[in-house]
Amino acid sequence: MEIIEDRSVDSCQEITIVGGGPAGLFCAYLLLKAGHKVKLYDHSSAVGKKFLVAGNGGLNISHSEDLNSFSSRYGKDAKLFKKLLGAFSPVDLRDWCTELGIETFVGTSGRIFPKGLKSVELLSAWIDKLKSNENFKLYLRHKLIGITNEKKLTFENCDKKIIVNSKVVIFALGGASWKITGSDGLWSKVLSDLGVKLSSFRPMNCGFERVWSEFFKREVDRCSLKNIELRFLGKTAKGEMMLTPYGVEGGVIYALSNFIRDELIESGVAKITIDLKPGLSLEALTQKLAKRSKKSTLSNHLRKVLGFDKMIFILLKELLSPEDFEDVDILAKKIKNLEIELSATRPIDEAISTSGGVCFSELNEFLELKAIPGVYFAGEMLDYEAPTGGYLLQGCFSSAWMVVKGIRSKGIFPDSRE
Ligand SMILES: Cc1cc2nc3c(=O)[nH]c(=O)nc-3n(C[C@H](O)[C@H](O)[C@H](O)COP(=O)(O)OP(=O)(O)OC[C@H]3O[C@@H](n4cnc5c(N)ncnc54)[C@H](O)[C@@H]3O)c2cc1C
Repeated sequence: MEIIEDRSVDSCQEITIVGGGPAGLFCAYLLLKAGHKVKLYDHSSAVGKKFLVAGNGGLNISHSEDLNSFSSRYGKDAKLFKKLLGAFSPVDLRDWCTELGIETFVGTSGRIFPKGLKSVELLSAWIDKLKSNENFKLYLRHKLIGITNEKKLTFENCDKKIIVNSKVVIFALGGASWKITGSDGLWSKVLSDLGVKLSSFRPMNCGFERVWSEFFKREVDRCSLKNIELRFLGKTAKGEMMLTPYGVEGGVIYALSNFIRDELIESGVAKITIDLKPGLSLEALTQKLAKRSKKSTLSNHLRKVLGFDKMIFILLKELLSPEDFEDVDILAKKIKNLEIELSATRPIDEAISTSGGVCFSELNEFLELKAIPGVYFAGEMLDYEAPTGGYLLQGCFSSAWMVVKGIRSKGIFPDSRE
């Protein structure tokens, strides 16, 4: 039989956080530092699982570019993020890492990383700090399944239902990709039942599908095209792109993924254009192609004068007609404007991040629900999107900081007004 346990919180000093990703953990850190009591609930078996995954290829925690460029990365929400970043900036984030004993550095691309590149050291130092505070309580394997207008939360824990009445609640439940890390997006049902306006989840920083020939699929096996330029609907991105048996992935694709995704939603097909030699003018490229001796095969010539490997030649064969190879002017134009038609986004669970979630129109400047004061939101569950490059995590930290500022500036904690 189901046991009901009541764990309600009487005092405003005690704050309930649901979700133990970077956004929730950072709220906990700031609140404990200010002397509050924090109870953090998460349905996973451990906190920070997605943060750990983010460190697999080098944890890019933020970016060093100026505030205007930084905030422009959040598209429609640039103005709002200018405020959030102004309140808690990339410099503040680096200082906080130092406070935890983790040094950071700025890479040649301007991206900011912890010195060891991985998440694990930073996460361990962070969790140790939280756990060493007697005002912190962590409840794992507690799944939020309901909330009422009176801020009565219901959690499921094994065969138990736990009820928590809390005066101040922070939700930091993440997006809807990489379910394996706990970010399943199922909280959207709980919040829409409460009447909170949500925007539907869409993949962001994701790969795309393309119907390749069977021969190409067999040959390709994750090949990387370096130093290319991707163009799509007037936008450009320079860097690396991966070819896979199912389609395309990689940095330049992620950078324009929201535009490609939206075009696919609208018209069912999206045609990207790549320039395989952005550093060479069309004239210079044409001249190089024209210098082919009769003895040299075309694939050898492309390798010698343009550095194209076998896979690029196979890609050209896949996408061009036999006639395109016969005329150097046409071939040069195609190399600089190679069109690839994409047919679908990859499944949302594979995406690095998701767009959609709690609409900002529902919230005040401190990311507090206008309809139910005392309910706050932080991190990826908010309806914003940004490319990779440290913008996702900085968004989590800055929004968490604003939530804590909101709670403390309310004056409900007589000893803590800033
Ligand atoms: C492969 C990969 C690489 C990435 N690399 C980078 C990078 O280099 N730089 C960067 O800036 N960002 C990167 N990101 C994105 C970054 O990890 C996320 O933006 C960030 O983790 C979001 O933090 P969050 O706290 O908002 O949510 P999450 O980290 O998703 O945490 C949400 C938490 O809520 C819990 N939860 C969810 N639903 C419930 C429920 N109903 N009840 C109780 N608990 C619940 C989950 O278990 C989870 O612990 C990467 C992501 C991936 C997948």
